[in-house]
Amino acid sequence: MTDLKFYGGVDEIGGNKIRITGEENSFFFDFGLAFSRANDYLSEFLQPRKSNGIVDFVTLGLLPCIKGIYREDYLRHTGLSYDDEPAVDGVLISHAHVDHAAYIHHLREDIPIYLSEQSFLILKALEDTGIASFSEYTELKKTFHLVPKKKVDGHTRSREKVSRDIHLVKPYQDFEIGEFLFKSIPVDHSLPGATGYTAENGEETIVYTGDLRFHGRRPELTRKFTEIARKSNPTIMLSEGTRIKSDTNITEADIEKRAVEEINKAKDLVIVNYPVRDLDRLVTFYNVARQTDRELVVSLKQAYILNLFSGQGYPEVKDVMVYQPRRGWGLIDDDSFACVGNEWLCTSDIDSDQSLRDYKTWERDFLDRDNTINYKFLREDPAEYLFRCDFFELKELIDVKPEDAVYIKSSTEPFDEQMEINERKVKNWLDLFSIRYVKKGFHASGHANGREILEMIRRIHPEKVYPIHTEHPREFDVLHDDGIDVVYPTKK
Ligand SMILES: [Zn+2]
Ligand SMILES: [Zn+2]
Repeated sequence: MTDLKFYGGVDEIGGNKIRITGEENSFFFDFGLAFSRANDYLSEFLQPRKSNGIVDFVTLGLLPCIKGIYREDYLRHTGLSYDDEPAVDGVLISHAHVDHAAYIHHLREDIPIYLSEQSFLILKALEDTGIASFSEYTELKKTFHLVPKKKVDGHTRSREKVSRDIHLVKPYQDFEIGEFLFKSIPVDHSLPGATGYTAENGEETIVYTGDLRFHGRRPELTRKFTEIARKSNPTIMLSEGTRIKSDTNITEADIEKRAVEEINKAKDLVIVNYPVRDLDRLVTFYNVARQTDRELVVSLKQAYILNLFSGQGYPEVKDVMVYQPRRGWGLIDDDSFACVGNEWLCTSDIDSDQSLRDYKTWERDFLDRDNTINYKFLREDPAEYLFRCDFFELKELIDVKPEDAVYIKSSTEPFDEQMEINERKVKNWLDLFSIRYVKKGFHASGHANGREILEMIRRIHPEKVYPIHTEHPREFDVLHDDGIDVVYPTKK
């Protein structure tokens, strides 16, 4: 009998970890972090300890206690056994949001990971540019491993990296894991590469939505997903229901129109905050900048992502301005000095190597370009720019010194305590610089609304539907009237 176990994504938004076990084989749909549970216990400076392997995560209920799936270096020293063979045959990732993919970090490197190329690129960007301590998505560095020193006696900590067993799935590709036959089906969501799947093993045909919407830039993908899923005659459907209680949508076109109107009224700098990996939103504000005769200014991190997605229909790095923040010694303009011998010299009289040293290797590629700018540009010609500035970049305002600026919030409303606290801080920063705050109607959700979700499920018409990735599973009840059995999963 095919068995379904839910280790996350039950009565909560995100944290999907769904294990499907057939006669011979077993796999996971997603292996993500559950924000709400993590926030119950953790905060920025209160994080699980690497020294305790997976134990802190398991104790807090963030990771399931399952044999045979976790990496050896996180098990051995905690006294947990490590078998020769992994207990699952694969993990299928729907998309690269952390609530679906972050806990890949803890998995054995010999468990095959299936994902789209775009999801891979985003995880790679997170891994390369992130400061998070648990972000070994594509390759892992073995901790607790000592190796002999090269020239002298003794040992040193290993820096060796091992690649994970990554399988890139193409759109509409069929592939097998043992008894299961899968199809990967692109869907539209708020970052590139989102994928739904069908899985069948002769006994059950399972449809998995991942996260999806019908009001983004590629609604035809989600519609095609619906048709392919319908044709598969599924017995089981695992459907997201993030916005099951909502019946409205704001589209990227709405945001574009509103933002152009707002910016046409602005006389000074316009600041915008949108999610860094949402490249559809980047396109929106790129269009807005062109229509309002401004240049879009992005962070080094977003430039790095754009570079990875070069040639895939998004703006190229050369099409935007890249913002270079002051770091470390701050040697980016002649208002900064360093003491050489007994003499204080300004930046241009100091070896240029010194200013590069404040930046990470991946950042240096973007520093010496014609379109790299710093705070002085924004201060001198504020009306020329549309400056993307996220929470952690608010400190740039101290250098930029805006005088009559507008701040457009183009991200989701706070849905937990931490986000509310941060929201208050944003307001304080904006008040400090007398910046006008506009926020209504500038965010398009990555999720379909309730009516669209129910219509999709009716059209696909599985025998059973399991509501996941939602705080309101009972809203699916109405599907009983359509002869669809609604099964409420319980978390293991
Ligand atoms: Zn999600
Ligand atoms: Zn998502």
